[in-house]
Amino acid sequence: MASKVILVTGGTGLVGKAIEKVAKEEARSDEKWVFVSSKDANLELEADTLALFEKHKPTHVIHLAAMVGGLFRNMAHNIDFFRVNMRINDNVLHCCFKYNVKKCVSCLSTSVFPANSTYPVDETMIYDDVPHESEFGFSFAKLMIDVLNRGYHRQHNCNFTSVILSNVFGPHDNFNLEDGHVIPGLINKAYHSKMNNKPFVIWGTGSPRRQFIYSLDLARLFIWALREYDDVSPIILAVDEEDEVSIKEVAEMVVEAIGFQGEVIHDTSKSDGQFRKTANNAKLRKYLPDFKFTPTKQAIKETVDWFIENYDLAKK
Ligand code: GDP
Repeated sequence: MASKVILVTGGTGLVGKAIEKVAKEEARSDEKWVFVSSKDANLELEADTLALFEKHKPTHVIHLAAMVGGLFRNMAHNIDFFRVNMRINDNVLHCCFKYNVKKCVSCLSTSVFPANSTYPVDETMIYDDVPHESEFGFSFAKLMIDVLNRGYHRQHNCNFTSVILSNVFGPHDNFNLEDGHVIPGLINKAYHSKMNNKPFVIWGTGSPRRQFIYSLDLARLFIWALREYDDVSPIILAVDEEDEVSIKEVAEMVVEAIGFQGEVIHDTSKSDGQFRKTANNAKLRKYLPDFKFTPTKQAIKETVDWFIENYDLAKK
C-alpha cells in the first residue's frame, strides 16, 4: 500500500509527461502518482482546488500548473500571466497547507533572475534587482511562489520549496509558433519549410544565449528534488554553464535534425528578449556531481522524431 500520494498539477504538460514517464521507469512501491490537468480542476478557483485536494488527499505535491508561453506570448499578455499564475499559486499552496502536505515542490523560472546582474546568477541573487521587463508578469508571479514558500515555512513550518528551471523542451511540448518556446517553434517552422520548400525564418538576431534543458533530464532532477531536497530556498536545475548555446546554434541543430537544406534567414524585426540568463548550477552539482545531461543535439533529435511521429496529436 502506497504511503505517499504524489499529486502533480499541470500533469499533462511538457514537464508533467516527462515526470510521468520517469516515475513509471523508477517506480517505488510506497509512491502513488496522480497526474492532473485543467480538465480535472480549474486551479484559479479556490473551491475547485479544495475539491481536488479533498479527492486525492496528497501527501506530496509537484506543482507545475501555470499559464506558460514563450517570449512573444508573454510580452503580449503580461497582466494575464501575472493574475492567472498568482491565483493558481495561492490556491495550490494554501491547499497544501490546509491538507498538511508534507512536501511541495513548485516551479520557478530563470526569467525571475535580476534584469541587471553579473553572470552566472545563483540562488542567492534573485532579489538583487527586478526581473527583465519583457516577461515581468510571469516572472513576478513566479517569484511570489518563493515568498509563499518562505511565509508558510516561517509561520506554519511547512516544507514547501521550489526549483528554478531554464528553457525546457522535449516531447509533448507546445509547438505553436505564437505561443510556444523557441525550440518547439523552430522545429515546427523547419518542418514546414522542408515540406513546402520555403525559407526557414529564425526570429531575432540569433545571438541570445540559453541553457536549454531536456524535459526527461529535468524529470529525473525533479523527482530527486521531491525525494531528497529539503530546503525552502530554491535550487537551480540547469545544465552546466559551458552547455549554454546561442539561438543560432540551436537553430542549426534543428535544421540538421529535420534535414532541411534550404535558405535560412533572420527576422530581426522580432524581439531578442533577454540576451542571457546564465544560471550557476553549483548548488545542484554539490548534491549530484555526476548527473549526466543528455547532449542538446541528441535531445533535439529525439524531440524532432517525437514531433514527426506524433504530428497529429502534437499541440501546435
Ligand atoms: P525565453 O527563453 O523566455 O526568452 O523564451 P523563448 O523560448 O520564446 O526564446 C526566445 C528567444 O528565441 C528570443 O531570443 C527569440 O528572438 C528567439 N527565437 C528565434 N526564433 C524563435 C521562434 O520561432 N519562437 C520563439 N518563441 N522564439 C524564437
